[in-house]
Amino acid sequence: MSREKKVEQYDVVVIGGGAAGMTAAIYAGRARLKTILIEKALVGGLATYTNEVENYPGFPNSPKGEDITNLMKEQAKKMGVEFKLTDVKSVDLCGEEKVVETFRTTYLAKTVILATGGRPRVTKAENEENYLFDKGISFCATCDAAANTDKTVVVIGSGDAAIEEGMFLTRFAKQVIVSVLHNEGKMDCNEIAREAAMRNPKMSFVWNTTVKRFEGEGHLDTVVLRDLRTDEEIPVKCDNCFEFIGYLPNTEIFRDQVKMTRSGYIITNEKMETNIEGVFACGDVRDKWLKQIATAVGDGAIAGYAAEKYIAESETFHNVILQKDKPGLTFIYNAVDAESREFLIEIEKIENHFAGRIAVNRVDIYKSSGVADRLNVSEFPAVILTVEGKVRERIIGQLDAVEIIRQLDSICLECR
Ligand SMILES: Cc1cc2nc3c(=O)[nH]c(=O)nc-3n(C[C@H](O)[C@H](O)[C@H](O)COP(=O)(O)OP(=O)(O)OC[C@H]3O[C@@H](n4cnc5c(N)ncnc54)[C@H](O)[C@@H]3O)c2cc1C
Repeated sequence: MSREKKVEQYDVVVIGGGAAGMTAAIYAGRARLKTILIEKALVGGLATYTNEVENYPGFPNSPKGEDITNLMKEQAKKMGVEFKLTDVKSVDLCGEEKVVETFRTTYLAKTVILATGGRPRVTKAENEENYLFDKGISFCATCDAAANTDKTVVVIGSGDAAIEEGMFLTRFAKQVIVSVLHNEGKMDCNEIAREAAMRNPKMSFVWNTTVKRFEGEGHLDTVVLRDLRTDEEIPVKCDNCFEFIGYLPNTEIFRDQVKMTRSGYIITNEKMETNIEGVFACGDVRDKWLKQIATAVGDGAIAGYAAEKYIAESETFHNVILQKDKPGLTFIYNAVDAESREFLIEIEKIENHFAGRIAVNRVDIYKSSGVADRLNVSEFPAVILTVEGKVRERIIGQLDAVEIIRQLDSICLECR
């Protein structure tokens, strides 16, 4: 029996319930926007897998990641944000109304915030899933190095991240054993990192190896490597293992719509705007330098704020600039440009001349360029004449008040 899908309407749909998505939702909810956050697995995201967060400001006692994210959830709920635990299957983001599909519901939204984060690439060796995160396999030295003080750790990988994070681990661990895919002396990292690593007395290397298996009772205690030349197994005793073989963004469902880097991270500007109007991205899913809870929260704040501004601007655009009651004149100027500013007097004269028969708007692009962008105006000053909510004339550059009055007179005649 087929069941009709429900259709629900929101101002803001946030996809992904990690630190970034929840912060964006807090900002949107606080702005009184009807906001829903959709999370497919665990509200709190990646941070919930971290046992001790030492570097998130305001929490000096190294709380568990989930202690922080539970507070974020509580705060978002207080701001009226709705939560839905389900997987977003597909999206259609290109129209003015955005469509987000889950198994049972179609969500229609004015804006969508993409906060789906990423996941570390894993080796896929035997038993790996038994030790992920808090049982011996970690993916973040910045986060877990201190917990490995005086311990022996294995690092998998030899790229920049593996070697630089491995070097960082030597400040805490007593021994860092690196499994490298290549022949002795060859690594994938930059030369400076390679030389420093080779000189570091706490670092040793097992060349020409990949991971065959992970072993241990409850917690990892041995990484069994495989020699690629001889197929021999090399068991390496350790307290923990760090895998640095790449990170994969959760962006498959946005492909072909949202602009991404070659490795699939979403490209945004500093306002977290993507290439699609009304679609924002924040947190680990975006192409950025430092992926941490603090930066995810910063991104989320900007995305939530930007979504609110976008909706407000959208409403002004449709209800005021493109109003249908009267012929309209929109003057687009830049308050810091003298020529633009001087023409404001002429606009006032035009407004007085028509004595309420036309709707006049003044848009200062110095404050925001959104309305000008929507009208496809990139030069200033400019006058846009509208009739019944549609653009009739674009007058750009040299403005002549007499000519504008003449054009408006003929529009008014037509509208009688
Ligand atoms: C092991 C580890 C330890 C770390 N420790 C620290 C630390 O100590 N300090 C620190 O600052 N940072 C730490 N980090 C980094 C930090 O966890 C991340 O930078 C941060 O959590 C990113 O938040 P986010 O909201 O961008 O993404 P995430 O937390 O990854 O959240 C994204 C969410 O989106 C959901 N999602 C994905 N696809 C969909 C879909 N289709 N539909 C619905 N939901 C979807 C996911 O389930 C996930 O919950 C650590 C990372 C790791 C891997």
